[in-house]
Amino acid sequence: MRSTTADDPTPHARATAPRRQFLQTLGAGAATLLALDVLESLAAAPAAAAPPPAAPAVQATTPGPPPAGGPDPAPQDVLVRMRADLERALRKPATQRQWVMVIDLRKCVGCSACTIACVAENKLPPGVVYRPVVEEELGTYPHVTRRFLPRPCMQCDNPPCVPVCPVAATYKRPDGIVAIDYDRCIGCRYCLVACPYNARTFDAGERYTDGTPETSPVERLPAFEYGQRRTREHDASPVGNARKCHFCTHRLEAGLLPACVSTCIGRATFFGDASDPDSLVSELVAKPNVMRLKEELGTQPRVYYLL
Ligand code: SF4
Ligand code: SF4
Repeated sequence: MRSTTADDPTPHARATAPRRQFLQTLGAGAATLLALDVLESLAAAPAAAAPPPAAPAVQATTPGPPPAGGPDPAPQDVLVRMRADLERALRKPATQRQWVMVIDLRKCVGCSACTIACVAENKLPPGVVYRPVVEEELGTYPHVTRRFLPRPCMQCDNPPCVPVCPVAATYKRPDGIVAIDYDRCIGCRYCLVACPYNARTFDAGERYTDGTPETSPVERLPAFEYGQRRTREHDASPVGNARKCHFCTHRLEAGLLPACVSTCIGRATFFGDASDPDSLVSELVAKPNVMRLKEELGTQPRVYYLL
């Protein structure tokens, strides 16, 4: 957290531009390196995966409940099934839930609706992104194609970001989510360096309206991450903290799917409780064409990809 003074009427516009420009440049470089890194990991993965034809993509709709002598039921959106899975999971004690995410790379169309939904949900400022979509172009003209890889925090079961935190601000919850306590975080950024997925970014206090006379009302709206109501006014936390995806814990606790899952127009992102054998995600992680990024590091990610 950083402090501000009472005689500084526009703290967001004060002379921090050189530092912010430096941080932006650093961020852009890191994003490029990340793109190369994760796509290399993906390129290496298919060898370990079974042939895709054996595992067709999950359909956006599935048959509804059996008809009672009437016409065939209307197809059911997979979101409906995931919401039912979520309701079932929330009826269990938190210690018995094991949240996982599955992303079907064959269905992702690279629209970045999930990235934007996340920005809107968590009121993310410039330079902070929880769910980038990494893009790659394959082949040689005219036989080219593109591949898209959404990359949230992996919520690792063996997370390198946790032991490096000198103030125990980042920790693993019983339900598998790796969380950040914004009130404890001192912004040292050790965790940013430790994360092999570059899943964390630092909130340097930038605003979209920097350099303009007034902060936009939208930028003064509160976010509800970790179930706490926070605004970024007066450079209060999470300004000056490490930030990352948390599977929208505040939405889960209200019985809602993460914003990226609800928004995915390709129905390429799935979420649920892996400890429930009847959940959609349990079905998906058992498929032969599933992989996780950089598994060789032993981080045990909770985000799975279908190839
Ligand atoms: S992906 Fe990075 S930030 Fe997320 S839990 Fe793993 S090590 Fe930590
Ligand atoms: S930036 Fe915050 S969460 Fe990350 S290691 Fe430092 S204190 Fe811990």
